[in-house]
Amino acid sequence: MRKDYYAILGVSPDADKEEIRRAFRKLARETHPDANPDDPAAEQRFREVAEAYEVLSDPDRRRAYDHGEQIDLSDLLMGGFDDLLRSVFGTGAFGFGGRQARRRGRDLSVRTSITLADAAFGTTVDVTYPAVVACAACSGTGAAPGASVQTCGRCGGSGSIQVTRRSFFGAMTTVETCGRCGGSGQEVTQPCPVCGGHGLVRGEQHINVEVPAGITDGARLRLAGRGDAGGPGGTNGDLYVEIRIEPDDRFERDGDDLVTRVPVSIVQATLGATVQVPLIDGSETSLDIPPGTQPGAVLRVEGAGMGRLGRRGRGDLRVVVDVEVPTKLSKEEDRLLRRYAEERGDAVRAKRRFL
Ligand SMILES: [Zn+2]
Ligand SMILES: [Zn+2]
Repeated sequence: MRKDYYAILGVSPDADKEEIRRAFRKLARETHPDANPDDPAAEQRFREVAEAYEVLSDPDRRRAYDHGEQIDLSDLLMGGFDDLLRSVFGTGAFGFGGRQARRRGRDLSVRTSITLADAAFGTTVDVTYPAVVACAACSGTGAAPGASVQTCGRCGGSGSIQVTRRSFFGAMTTVETCGRCGGSGQEVTQPCPVCGGHGLVRGEQHINVEVPAGITDGARLRLAGRGDAGGPGGTNGDLYVEIRIEPDDRFERDGDDLVTRVPVSIVQATLGATVQVPLIDGSETSLDIPPGTQPGAVLRVEGAGMGRLGRRGRGDLRVVVDVEVPTKLSKEEDRLLRRYAEERGDAVRAKRRFL
């Protein structure tokens, strides 16, 4: 059954990021199992609140949820609750969270724009974005120079501990993440002064993104492991690159086809002609306008459209013929057209006389 995450957090569906964050902070304090040691239902409530926050605090997940899409919860909360709470309350809130949590870095989103021509043929774009990266000072270990990483003294390196609680149902033993090492099973004798032992710092990432031919405007490319670094023993988040296609003043896209307009005179349309038509790659091709071509007629240049995404070949270029009616005529042109009208028996407006 679909959960109402807005109702769980007690916010309205148009709540902004800050309202959602505030609501979560309040509910997390109230429902956290540590705050309710005698209530076995507390953990379930806390899980729901955390799940709602994980979905609604991420713009992409929230959009998907609002559209009624199924949210894949398997990769949510992978970093554990400690990780989630640390991101909202800061390190060490509630007295838990070790120096080195075995965590998954957050997913990141960036947006980049390309030309229609690049979308037609595929391209490579350089993307630079802020990200949490491994600390260079300690190579991401979190240990100060000369210090060592050793097995956690509390959990013996397993990263988890058994906790027995008395509850309404009697003594209950659960396995929980070790609070001293944050689940990594390791701790350092002296933390790195640059990163404070996290093994992570704020920095910048740079990546070349292969954009396939035929990509659509607004498409998102997922680059596994290129999001925030996860820290010692953890995994990196993913990077989502949203591709925007800049509008082109000569071509419009229609699926795999491109559409352009070419102007021809009434005489060219009537008698037929060969005209030059621009192509998306910047070159031109000759196009035959058959005699008697009507205004708005569509001619096709096969294989001159967009690359087909994930397939071979290209769409077509559709050329719409714009028959231009002259608004100014020379004396001789006027005379010839009147002669033509006379030949056809067409009634035309008499020539304006200037006195
Ligand atoms: Zn460091
Ligand atoms: Zn431990």
